[in-house]
Amino acid sequence: MSERPSILIVDDEVSNIEILSATLEEDHDIYFATTGTEAIEIARTTLPDLILLDVLMPGVDGYEVCAAIKADPLIADVPVIFTTALGDQEAEVKGLMLGAIDYITKPILPVVVRARIRNHLDMKRMRDELAEMAVTDALTGLGNRRRLEKVLNQETSRLSRSGGLLSVIILDIDFFKKFNDLYGHTAGDRCLTMVAAALNRAVHHANDVTIRYGGEEFACVLPEIEHPEAMEIANSIRDRVQALGIPHSGSDASPFVSVSLGVATALCIPGSQPDSWIRAADEQLYVAKAAGRNLVAGIVFATDGVLPVASSG
Ligand code: GH3
Ligand code: MG
Ligand code: MG
Repeated sequence: MSERPSILIVDDEVSNIEILSATLEEDHDIYFATTGTEAIEIARTTLPDLILLDVLMPGVDGYEVCAAIKADPLIADVPVIFTTALGDQEAEVKGLMLGAIDYITKPILPVVVRARIRNHLDMKRMRDELAEMAVTDALTGLGNRRRLEKVLNQETSRLSRSGGLLSVIILDIDFFKKFNDLYGHTAGDRCLTMVAAALNRAVHHANDVTIRYGGEEFACVLPEIEHPEAMEIANSIRDRVQALGIPHSGSDASPFVSVSLGVATALCIPGSQPDSWIRAADEQLYVAKAAGRNLVAGIVFATDGVLPVASSG
């Protein structure tokens, strides 16, 4: 949620929109719609923090708008507050049953409206923060394994519609157990944070996602990235980690902390299993480890079976 929360006001009576807008515009960005159809459209394009929804409208009414919002994954989480005529309890119950979070009665009392909306926006902010924490790794600030699963599911389903390529990189710090034994767990944690930062600096596209996958394992999801570019990114991660220059006297691979990387690229097709990218990248990681560590190995595979088109560098 940005600093100024945004509210979509939906009402077929322009005078109601004017009153609500005058009550709320000082602290909120206001969007408005005068029909149900317009409301769904604007909600999808502006992703407001809250929707104030009139029940009675000609054409698509408030109930239908609420049901459409709750059925749309993009906006299902936006709290909906119904505005109903005073004393219409049936309308209130029906709205709450449809997933509305509250109702406000008309004619509106500005102090009441402001207070209720502030409470609901506070609750939404807390829910958003909790949801974000649940998919974030506390040490490095990267996404965690839950985010990886979520992103892979979303991207494979999105890209299978357009027939796009997806690349995944999995990397693992070399001889990290020895690093902890030699330099201590606190230094180990600091090393993990620095590797995470190097990883973030190596990826550039808006949709790229960086993940702490396990203890000293990381992953990158690279949508719409061809294999050669994914290999370049993996090599740049390898180089950047080396360039951190963190001494590691227990490593057989390098005098400094190093990583091994596996890269897997495949075309997304309907039915593609998100797991298959992880499995293929993991196998390549194993290849890079076996070949001496501080290396990149990669493969282009078909999601109905791994093709033998390996590359390394
Ligand atoms: P390889 O080169 O084959 O990857 O060997 P490795 O020693 O890196 O791999 P191994 O899986 O044997 O050991 C991983 C180590 O990572 C074990 C554990 O002490 C360390 N580790 C895992 N999570 C954390 C963490 O959160 N902080 C620190 N400091 N160390 C961690
Ligand atoms: Mg490991
Ligand atoms: Mg390791």
